[in-house]
Amino acid sequence: MSPFTIALICIAAILVLAPGIYFGIRFLAKMINSSSARDARDIHAQVYDALLKLKENEGGYLYQNVFVSALYGKVVLIDLLYVGKHGIYVFQIDYHSGRIRGGDNLNTWSTDKGNDSNEMDFYNPFVQNETNLLALEETIGHRELLRNIIIFPNADITDVDSRHVYTLKNLNTMFSVLPSSNLDNDMVNRLADEIQRFVDHPARSLEQHAQIRKQEEDAVAQGVCPLCGGTLLMRVSTHTGRKFWGCSNFPNCMFRKDL
Ligand SMILES: [Zn+2]
Repeated sequence: MSPFTIALICIAAILVLAPGIYFGIRFLAKMINSSSARDARDIHAQVYDALLKLKENEGGYLYQNVFVSALYGKVVLIDLLYVGKHGIYVFQIDYHSGRIRGGDNLNTWSTDKGNDSNEMDFYNPFVQNETNLLALEETIGHRELLRNIIIFPNADITDVDSRHVYTLKNLNTMFSVLPSSNLDNDMVNRLADEIQRFVDHPARSLEQHAQIRKQEEDAVAQGVCPLCGGTLLMRVSTHTGRKFWGCSNFPNCMFRKDL
């Protein structure tokens, strides 16, 4: 075979393979782009399934995406809510991964897996979920039955000092670890009826929720804290050096918006 023939064969091979490689790369890029939103949905579904198993053993009721109207016309979204003989468990899924450091009484938590694989800090997730508990307390009462639970589905929580933090792996130990009430069936059913009214109108609530989100964005654009009406101040994270909007009423108000 002459060098010329070999070159010709090479060129032909490249022409045949190039479109395949081009579309293959585009397909992969598309998959990677859409994977984070899908991952969040998958993880939410995994947590739901794990809680469903618990519920099958323990009885009670499990709800997801519960919109509750709170003070000042705010609507809060509760990721997952369980009502049973042990009490009312208000779950918030936290998607931070890596090795989490934090504790019940620490304002700032951190993970070793930030966006640029640097350490990244974030506010104590219990404080944010507390807003959801307050909304429930305002609407159905029973503060003493409400449990604030954070689930880091796939993180390492060995450095977190709290009994109210779980992962997918140890979620099944929750009812044996936490102090629990012993409610009778009548009480559980009555609580479930109360909560059902927030689950019945997802469409209206979704609309309300979108409206609230818009109001929050408008407030931030005007430099006003959407939670308390305080002034937004530019802060710099001592851990990561990143800039964010914080509230002038910190630490009473934990509003935070990354820039
Ligand atoms: Zn504020």
